[in-house]
Amino acid sequence: MTSNTRVVVIGAGLAGVRLARRLGELGVPVTLIGEEEHRPYNRVLLAEVLAGRYSPDVIALPAPAELTRARVTGIDRAGRTVECADGTKIAYDTLVLATGSNPVLPPLRGLFSPDHVLPEGVHAFRTMDDCLGLSKAVRPGVKAVVIGGGLLGVSAARALALRGAQVVLAQQSERLMERQLDPSASKLVRRHLTDLGVEIHTECRVRDVRCVGGAVRSVEMSDGYALDADLVVLACGVHPRVGLAQISGLDVRKGVVVDDELRTSDPHIRAIGDCAQHDGTVYGLATPALEQADVLAESLAGRANARYTGTRSLTRLTLTGQTAFDLAAFGETEALPGDDVVQLTDATRGTYRKVVVRDDRLVGGVLVGELGTVGALARAWEGAEPLPADGAPLLHLLTNDGGS
Ligand SMILES: Cc1cc2nc3c(=O)[nH]c(=O)nc-3n(C[C@H](O)[C@H](O)[C@H](O)COP(=O)(O)OP(=O)(O)OC[C@H]3O[C@@H](n4cnc5c(N)ncnc54)[C@H](O)[C@@H]3O)c2cc1C
Repeated sequence: MTSNTRVVVIGAGLAGVRLARRLGELGVPVTLIGEEEHRPYNRVLLAEVLAGRYSPDVIALPAPAELTRARVTGIDRAGRTVECADGTKIAYDTLVLATGSNPVLPPLRGLFSPDHVLPEGVHAFRTMDDCLGLSKAVRPGVKAVVIGGGLLGVSAARALALRGAQVVLAQQSERLMERQLDPSASKLVRRHLTDLGVEIHTECRVRDVRCVGGAVRSVEMSDGYALDADLVVLACGVHPRVGLAQISGLDVRKGVVVDDELRTSDPHIRAIGDCAQHDGTVYGLATPALEQADVLAESLAGRANARYTGTRSLTRLTLTGQTAFDLAAFGETEALPGDDVVQLTDATRGTYRKVVVRDDRLVGGVLVGELGTVGALARAWEGAEPLPADGAPLLHLLTNDGGS
């Protein structure tokens, strides 16, 4: 082996752990460095821990035996070493950044303190520590305000409601999960949360978080209305964690820029997962992070044709509890003029299925409440094969699970 003798991976999240495991299987020595004190875990399932359905052990990832617990604070590109917060230096031939994302903290006066510590009762929702902190604070009857109505905010609001909290969700735009869902699917998600007792305010901007004695007391809206709050969850999105790459002088735009071999502007440094930007896209989702890890493992093991050419990503959210609620969305869920749309709604059962077709190709779809057909649809979408002209197979795709 030539340049792969010492592969060092920064970040023991979904992408870093997958890469380290694959490299282990391929016989490439690897050092995985992660700052979190918990056993590596599947972040996607944190809401299930918060809801009380899973213990933290259940969502642990099968991590490689060798994990160095440390925070990397610097990269010496000329000397090819990384430096950790405790002063340790680790040498590499190939370095991989798998540093993930940071939560976006909204610019509210009440959140700022000189030491960057959030007021008591205010939590982000990104790490196991965030989840355990929230879990400890939630009790039946606690007043919780979730700021943000995307995938994260919806999962957090639902989990807190299942734990008996009185939850208000404040969403700035006009509907929930607008990045993934069309208006009809958003309405069903809204109905589902409302049925669980969550109070939802859309087109509602939060102006401030009010604290007394360092602890949160209320959340103030832009119209001056104040909501009492014992707990506040910040679910306002994420941004790629690119600080290390930036101070090391790598090419960083939204994320760390990588080519089809996941190579950054330094040929000895690669990047994967939420922190990487490939072909203009930062995905911020689990499937692309895992696919990038798999391709990079092949590449570092010396397979010359290992290339990452992008992920057509399906977002799947399974919200289980007393009432299961599944949804999946892929591609473009809103039609452009000239597109064909096939839509099936069952208001009584709360199910909704829709696909968008452009020039005989499936370009997107959304399924709520009934996911039996998701596998067949995803395959038709990923394959990007032309669909037969008479429309019947499409309807078949929407109504038959195709054995998936
Ligand atoms: C609550 C929640 C629900 C989600 N639900 C879904 C979902 O339903 N579907 C979906 O596709 N995606 C979902 N996501 C997003 C998904 O979790 C991410 O896309 C995925 O985790 C990205 O993997 P990653 O390895 O790039 O980053 P991460 O999993 O964030 O891992 C990065 C790791 O690197 C560590 N690290 C960073 N910098 C350093 C450093 N300097 N030194 C040492 N360690 C460092 C971090 O502490 C972290 O452990 C969800 C995310 C959250 C938080």
